[in-house]
Amino acid sequence: MRRRRTLFVDADILVVGGGMSGCGATYESRYWGRDLKIVCVEKANIERSGAVAQGLYAINCYMGMQWNENQPEDHVRYARNDLMGLVREDLGYDIARHVDATVHKFEEWGLPIMRDPKTGRYQREGKWQIMIHGESYKPIVAEAARKAASEVYNRIMVTHLLMDKQRPKRVAGAVGFNVRTGDFYVFRAKAVIVTAGGASHIFKPRAVGEGMGRTWYAPWSSASAYALPILVGAKMTQMENRIVLTRFKDGYGPVGAYFLHLKTYTQNAYGQDYEPTWYNSIRERVGDYVDRHPVPTCLRNHALLEEVKAGRGPIRMVTTEAFKDPHKETVGWENFLGMTIGQAVVWASQNIDPKEINPELTTSEPYVMGSHATCSGAWASGPEDYAPSEYQWGYNRMMTVEGLFGAGDAIGGSAHKFSSGSFTEGRIAGKAAVRYVNDLGKQQPQVSEAEYEDLKKVVYKPMENYEVGRNEIVAGTVSPSYILPIHGLQRLEKIMDEYVGGIGAHYTTNEPLLTRGLELLGMLKEDLAHLGAEDLHQLQRAWELQHRVLASECVTQHTLFRTETRWPGYYYRADHPKLDDQDWHCFTLSRYDRDSGKWEMEKAPVYHIVD
Ligand SMILES: Cc1cc2nc3c(=O)[nH]c(=O)nc-3n(C[C@H](O)[C@H](O)[C@H](O)COP(=O)(O)OP(=O)(O)OC[C@H]3O[C@@H](n4cnc5c(N)ncnc54)[C@H](O)[C@@H]3O)c2cc1C
Repeated sequence: MRRRRTLFVDADILVVGGGMSGCGATYESRYWGRDLKIVCVEKANIERSGAVAQGLYAINCYMGMQWNENQPEDHVRYARNDLMGLVREDLGYDIARHVDATVHKFEEWGLPIMRDPKTGRYQREGKWQIMIHGESYKPIVAEAARKAASEVYNRIMVTHLLMDKQRPKRVAGAVGFNVRTGDFYVFRAKAVIVTAGGASHIFKPRAVGEGMGRTWYAPWSSASAYALPILVGAKMTQMENRIVLTRFKDGYGPVGAYFLHLKTYTQNAYGQDYEPTWYNSIRERVGDYVDRHPVPTCLRNHALLEEVKAGRGPIRMVTTEAFKDPHKETVGWENFLGMTIGQAVVWASQNIDPKEINPELTTSEPYVMGSHATCSGAWASGPEDYAPSEYQWGYNRMMTVEGLFGAGDAIGGSAHKFSSGSFTEGRIAGKAAVRYVNDLGKQQPQVSEAEYEDLKKVVYKPMENYEVGRNEIVAGTVSPSYILPIHGLQRLEKIMDEYVGGIGAHYTTNEPLLTRGLELLGMLKEDLAHLGAEDLHQLQRAWELQHRVLASECVTQHTLFRTETRWPGYYYRADHPKLDDQDWHCFTLSRYDRDSGKWEMEKAPVYHIVD
């Protein structure tokens, strides 16, 4: 077996993942920690990495406090309503009160934000969204992080966190490998901020075969933000709260600008408004949550799904009226150019001109994330001046593992952060991590050589498996002694789809299915010891799969624990089909013990701080 070099990097603060929140964490850590060594490590290249890689056409979280448009409390009410009552109001408020300052920085750094010619204010797409020319959003944000960082390490996939030799409950760094050179990296750090994005491809996607990369959430979002903290015993919250998106069929192009700015609307195959049809049955399931404004996203999904099940699909968005207006037509197309060019290509390939034909909508496969309209992620300590005492055990955004912070998709309980809120939360975590590092004084964490040497063997094992096992076959990809990452991924997606409420099961599951799903995931985990990686690219795929499987197990445990259907339209517990505020107006928490492989589940209270 080839010997791999081990390279050591020392840092005061290590930021894992250079997406929106990672760039925010890097930027702010430098602001408060002028003399500290701030290192950002990213598996791609921060210039174009993460969910914003392709660009965005709107910033979805902006209060507009300078014009008295909204206050942070309004945003907390909005997110709480959309999440059917369950959000960490302290975390949401903390982001909302700082997010405008972040957006103003983006503009200063060169991001073109559209303005309303009449008022001179930012052009609103909706109550919370402002419109941008955002093709270069990520490079602009990355430039600020690059200038702030002591060092940025691109192309390094972080596989594990390292714990302190003296105090095993304290983080001490991370290991990973360079996906181009194959070098092994040991990062030794006083604080680690995990900002490694959400999870796609844990449920079977609608687009399979040659189209499998065509998912709504970025296909490279591989659940590291969850697996890394889970493996070291961090508590996770709301992992059952997966998201399903209503989007344009086959391209998953964004619909926000269409609904909000172009004022398009939906109808069934017979040109009828179908949402009122389902009002009474939704009310029976969830009570007066259906009467809230705006109607929670999951309930609108639910109405669409029921209408399709009743045989009146496809559901279409009425674009033909809006596209008669040349301004709106331009906005409609520019929206795709700035964000999802693929949707325009799909329409062209399917002979859909939205001026003439109302395009079909569909619901996506489920994803797991903490920054969009759902709030899966790590359980984090809240802001000192605002969080109830039960939500405070240390520094702001510190997880339940000492010295381990997070932001963006990584942090649970606080939905509707989006790109600007994720960057803001990164800033909040960065500032707190600097305080933590300064307070550490002489008690600095140390990594154990035995631990990282062991991990080095584990990390490259799939390449060894392949090298040894490939001689047993003369052709093809099926081997008696290893499985390829793609095979493992498809097996995972099938299990999650069929047992945990994916598209193939109409998002429906129950206790027997979940229990069997966990057994099958257990068997898959056993087989992951036999992953085979042909090259470094496949080695990255192998570790992405490992992270996805662990996160999936966590999702399944949470789904089993919450015996109610809190978010119809995202998923259904057929054995508990109704929302149950009596028993489940609470957060779900899990903790994984990597030695025993067991999960501990508990409930945590939801405090309503904003009236
Ligand atoms: C299709 C789509 C449309 C969206 N539309 C909007 C919109 O219109 N407006 C808006 O404001 N927001 C929008 N969002 C949401 C926004 O993009 C996210 O909220 C935000 O990017 C989350 O930030 P993050 O830092 O948590 O994750 P990301 O920005 O995804 O960053 C995660 C980073 O971690 C890296 N990484 C992952 N694993 C590892 C590892 N193991 N080792 C090292 N690095 C790793 C990734 O490569 C990535 O760079 C959209 C998202 C998507 C996918």
